[in-house]
Amino acid sequence: MPDIPLPDTVWPPTPDLMAARRVLAVQPHYDDNDIAGGGTLAALAENGAEIFYLTVTDDLVGFIDQSVPQSEMEKQLQAEQRAAGRFIGVDDFYWLGYPDAGRFDHFDLRRDIIRYVRLVRPDFIFTCDPWMPYEAHFDHVRTGFAVAEAATLFNFTRLATEPDVDQAFEPFELQGIVFYASAFPNTVFDISTTFEKKHQAVRQYAGQFTLEELDGLVNLLDARERKAAAQPAAAADERFSHGEPLKVLSTWQLHVNPTTIHE
Ligand SMILES: [Zn+2]
Repeated sequence: MPDIPLPDTVWPPTPDLMAARRVLAVQPHYDDNDIAGGGTLAALAENGAEIFYLTVTDDLVGFIDQSVPQSEMEKQLQAEQRAAGRFIGVDDFYWLGYPDAGRFDHFDLRRDIIRYVRLVRPDFIFTCDPWMPYEAHFDHVRTGFAVAEAATLFNFTRLATEPDVDQAFEPFELQGIVFYASAFPNTVFDISTTFEKKHQAVRQYAGQFTLEELDGLVNLLDARERKAAAQPAAAADERFSHGEPLKVLSTWQLHVNPTTIHE
């Protein structure tokens, strides 16, 4: 049987991120959006998009200072996230409070994410790529999966979340889903005008990193961003100094579509 040639162009084309007006960025922990996608999110905010962060876990496991009580830890983490968000241009922050690195149910998480998709009505959703090989942190895998599934199901109104939200909901079209920390990126987004904002944002996360660790993290991010910008795919258009690799997809590519890994 002859080989069936794979199409060399994706149809419809990769969604245009610069058209984003409302973005919901869903992260397992309080710093993931900024570390892996903060330059892109800051650029979209500069371009006029409203940015909303949804944090899945309470993120208490990584808190360094063992003497701080839980209620104080929660306050500090939220204050650090807001301080970081001022650099990125985040408009609002929501937390689901699932136990960090703990036991929770996929269907509960998917329902909560669908509720926020119905409330926020984003045209783009960001999250971590759950198909990244060698991702050992289960919070990242299950967050990415729940978001990906929510992105394909939120318009099915028979799926219930909360009566008030569901009754007021009118279905709408999601332009795309964006996976950061992806092993299979199809886009390198130019962050040369926003990488400094991103690095400043990341430096706010002192509850979980020592100052030395933050220096190391920012240096590592800077090196990766320069490397991403130097890749041939990134250099095809105009040259830029710093980039973030992203997998930008339409939701139809997330179901019974075996070529998505190459798209
Ligand atoms: Zn994380």
